[in-house]
Amino acid sequence: METGKTERLDPTARGLARAVGILGAGGRVAFPTETVYGLGADARNGAAVAGIYAAKGRPSFNPLIAHVADVAMARRYVVWSDLADRLAGAFWPGPLTLVLPLRPDAGISDLTTAGLDTLAVRVPAHPLAQALLRAFDGPLAAPSANPSGRISPTTAEHVLAGLDGRIEAVLMGGACGVGVESTILGLGAEPVLLRPGGLPVEALEAMLGAPLSTGGSADAPSSPGQLLSHYAPRAGLRLEAETARKGEVLLGFGPVAGEITLSASGDLHEAAAALFGALHELDARGASGIAVAPIPERGLGRAINDRLRRAAAPRDRDGTAGA
Ligand code: AMP
Ligand code: MG
Repeated sequence: METGKTERLDPTARGLARAVGILGAGGRVAFPTETVYGLGADARNGAAVAGIYAAKGRPSFNPLIAHVADVAMARRYVVWSDLADRLAGAFWPGPLTLVLPLRPDAGISDLTTAGLDTLAVRVPAHPLAQALLRAFDGPLAAPSANPSGRISPTTAEHVLAGLDGRIEAVLMGGACGVGVESTILGLGAEPVLLRPGGLPVEALEAMLGAPLSTGGSADAPSSPGQLLSHYAPRAGLRLEAETARKGEVLLGFGPVAGEITLSASGDLHEAAAALFGALHELDARGASGIAVAPIPERGLGRAINDRLRRAAAPRDRDGTAGA
């Protein structure tokens, strides 16, 4: 969506209806949660999620948290478990994010998960966030509503100070209560603390009845129960390529046409939305290498190149990207 003026929406039925209309059209709406203000967009819509990155000027893609209204909505998108049910029963709504396997039929954009087959879900407790999610009836990807590198906003005024004119709207709620981000718990073979946050780790440990492991480096899990934080294709990547060499498939951009082309017109927004799907699809063809056309290092091109450079970095023997 084109941005110009950022609408200030009142926390009323009318303001919520307008927010739902903007989100349904692929726009961005900042809204209060009990932790910080989130910059929300439809987690199922790749172009909308690319818009989050464009507004924040984020130079790298990382998986985003899908905010949902309740357990029933979470279960549409992730493979639920008994442990998830106990944790949600104890701590939702609230500042706890659970990372669970993505359902194959979830319809979540792979820009939301940054290409992973897991999804982070959370039910925020703030009444306005609850009302918005119920009215929208869908998942909202929502990182903190601040430009990249600036501190997280806890008032609508903070949001506007950073993003006025760069997003479609802000729901003008009051100040956020918690002020720090959610605690993130990975639920693989065993629970792993992925990020400390607003829910004290002691509360989780008391419920689980055991100390929580914090995992090794997020990029190189040291035991099978841990979760990868970055997707990388099996095939090696060669960047700044104009043509494919023997055994390679070509990922095109702009004037360089490939087996798959991220954007023939050279539109970086379109390319960002298509990136992870294209890598997965080319990887599935079993090529030994993926040659990637040059992508300009500006706007969303920075985040695209960052992801491509990480995917091109040497691997360890498990096929995960090195540090
Ligand atoms: P935020 O910036 O508050 O939206 O938090 C996003 C953070 O959640 C990312 O930096 C990741 O570390 C973490 N995260 C989200 N999804 C996943 C996932 N599928 N696997 C592991 N970590 C995740
Ligand atoms: Mg942030």
